[in-house]
Amino acid sequence: MHREGHYGTTLLAGAICVLGLGIATGIIATTVMMIYARVPDQDQYIPENIISHRGPTHSVLFALALAFISASTVAYPFHFGQQFAVEHNLISTAVILPSTVWAFFAGIVTISLLTHIITDALTKGGGFRIKPLWPLSSWAPALGLCTADDERWNIALLTSGATAFTAALLHELYYSVLPALVGLWTATVSIAGFTTQDMSQVKL
Ligand SMILES: [Zn+2]
Repeated sequence: MHREGHYGTTLLAGAICVLGLGIATGIIATTVMMIYARVPDQDQYIPENIISHRGPTHSVLFALALAFISASTVAYPFHFGQQFAVEHNLISTAVILPSTVWAFFAGIVTISLLTHIITDALTKGGGFRIKPLWPLSSWAPALGLCTADDERWNIALLTSGATAFTAALLHELYYSVLPALVGLWTATVSIAGFTTQDMSQVKL
């Protein structure tokens, strides 16, 4: 599939993340997934006799290996930065465990890369079928719904993904963020009311 199609299915996965993880974490997860969405296709710039297109980079093993490396690369600087902030009194204590950051990043990168593989499996594949179980098996699934460059499919996937993501954001804003803001406003008004009442009693 082309760029538009991959971004579309990634936004679909992002919509699920927003609904499951909340608006802030969901947006961070979607941003990371969008960055990784097209990494497997960078194999097109590697000589064919070294790595073939839709070969090893379109496998579960590659997804897990890249997720492991990426999460480990992010978790250590995060831990170091957090420790630095505590030592210099920028924050009083560690905010997030580095192991939580590692698990989050590894999970999100894995989902992004598997989404890419599944999206490519929708196509006919031609001589470039994905091999998700490489190197254990040369199984090459291809649902054959369209060709990778099918403009209508690519645009349809992008539109569906963008719509689902926007709907998920609106859903979270309406059912989670808005009630929280209303609750905060009500609490602030009632505290201000009590304070005014107390002050008037003091004057009397
Ligand atoms: Zn691909």
